[in-house]
Amino acid sequence: AIEVRNLHKSFGEVEVLKGIDFHVDQGEVVCVIGPSGSGKSTLLRCVNRLEEPTSGTVLVEGVDITDPETDLDLVRTRIGMVFQQFNLFPHLSVLRNLTLAQQRAKKRGKAEAVEIARKNLAKVGLAHKEDAFPAQLSGGQQQRVAIARALSMNPDMMLFDEPTSALDPELVGDVLEVMRQLADEGMTMMVVTHEMGFAREVGDRLVFMDGGVVVEQGDPREVLGNPQHERTQAFLSKVL
Ligand code: ATP
Ligand code: MG
Repeated sequence: AIEVRNLHKSFGEVEVLKGIDFHVDQGEVVCVIGPSGSGKSTLLRCVNRLEEPTSGTVLVEGVDITDPETDLDLVRTRIGMVFQQFNLFPHLSVLRNLTLAQQRAKKRGKAEAVEIARKNLAKVGLAHKEDAFPAQLSGGQQQRVAIARALSMNPDMMLFDEPTSALDPELVGDVLEVMRQLADEGMTMMVVTHEMGFAREVGDRLVFMDGGVVVEQGDPREVLGNPQHERTQAFLSKVL
C-alpha cells in the first residue's frame, strides 16, 4: 500500500505539488488523471523517490521512504515501474532484459531467473519472443516486455506512468489487457493515464489532479459521469 501525506515538491522557486494527500490500498487500482503539468508524474516519482519530496511523508508498505535510514534499493525492488518510454536495454535480448535485474538486485541464480522470466513472458503473451531484441518488437510488445520485466522482480505494487501514450492506437489494447489481468489478480496499482475507458472499467478509484493538488476523487463512474468540481468538468469536457 502507498500512503502520501501533505506532500510538497518544489523545483527551485516553482511549487509543483502543493500538499497532496493520496493513498493506494492493498489490491486497489487507482488511476490518476489531469492536465499536462498538473504534477501527476512528479507525484508518482515521489512514491519511489526518483524525486526527493520537499516536505511531507511517503509511506510504502508502512515504511517511510523519506527517512534517510530507509534502504531505498530494497524499497524499489518492491515497486515495479512502467513508463511511457519502455526503457528496455537495446543491446540485450528480451530474456536477458528480464533476468538481469533479478540476478543483480534479487541475487537470483541464472536458472531461477530464467524460469521466472519465462513465466512472466508467457503471462504477457510473448513467450515466443524471448530471443528477440527490443528493436525487433512493436511498441506494444516492448511495453509488455517492460511490464514482464517489472513483474519478474515480484513487486508488491506497480506504478504506471502513461504506459500507452507512446503507442500507435491499434497497439494500446494489448497493453491495457495485460494491465487489466494484473488488476484482476489483485495487484496494487497506481496508473497515470489518459485512457478513460480503462479508468472507468478497471479502476477502483479515480483521482483528478490540477495545479499540484488533488481536486477531486472517487468512484471512477461517479467522477467521470458526474464531476463535482468545475475544474474536473472543464478537463473532462476536453478529453471525453
Ligand atoms: P504530463 O501530463 O505532461 O506528463 P504531469 O502532470 O505528469 O504532465 P509533471 O511532469 O509532474 O506533470 O510536471 C509538473 C510540473 O513540474 C511541470 O510544470 C514541469 O515543468 C515541472 N517539472 C517536472 N520535473 C521538473 C524538473 N526536474 N525540474 C523542473 N521542473 C520540473
Ligand atoms: Mg507526466
